Amino acid sequence: MSVVLVVVTNVKSLGVSVAVAKSLPPVDKFFMQVCPICGTPQRMMIRGLYVENGKSQLYPDTGYSFCNCRNIFFTKWENITAEAPNMYSDNYIQEYGSRLNSLQFPLMHLGGLFNHCNVGEILIITMRDPYFVIWTRPHEYTGFNPRTNYILWDMGSFVEECKKVGFTVISADRDMNVESKTPECYHITLRKS
Ligand SMILES: [Zn+2]
Repeated sequence: MSVVLVVVTNVKSLGVSVAVAKSLPPVDKFFMQVCPICGTPQRMMIRGLYVENGKSQLYPDTGYSFCNCRNIFFTKWENITAEAPNMYSDNYIQEYGSRLNSLQFPLMHLGGLFNHCNVGEILIITMRDPYFVIWTRPHEYTGFNPRTNYILWDMGSFVEECKKVGFTVISADRDMNVESKTPECYHITLRKS
């Protein structure tokens, strides 16, 4: 059983109340990760996954935290080794639209995608879907790869971000096709109106 002790001290001379909470032992700073969207430190809760000789293995010290500001899982940016696409590519829409999980500033690039689209143009964004995590066996979910996936977004939360940058959301669907080329993903169809 964990014990939470709260001591409230009335500091009369300053005219303020100071509450001091003593609870679980502090987490080693290394295992705290700062949410890339809101800046709140969150403890690492799921170890990252890598594949060696066809077998899934877990990193001892690299993994994902959760933040409920946008319902996202995230790792530290320095864990990512996936190469960023070329900013000035002629295929900006194609390259960035399919790489949002791996980018350092996905919301900035979502705005970039909006700017690159012509009015009336349709854009389909595909992202890893943490909905497919089986919580009793989280390490079967291949999305927890801290070399590739920086932020894993809840579908509903990302739909809201798409609306914020100006897109009309036509549909948002989880990929339930067992023979899918994009398993454990969702697809959001957007139009620049
Ligand atoms: Zn946050």
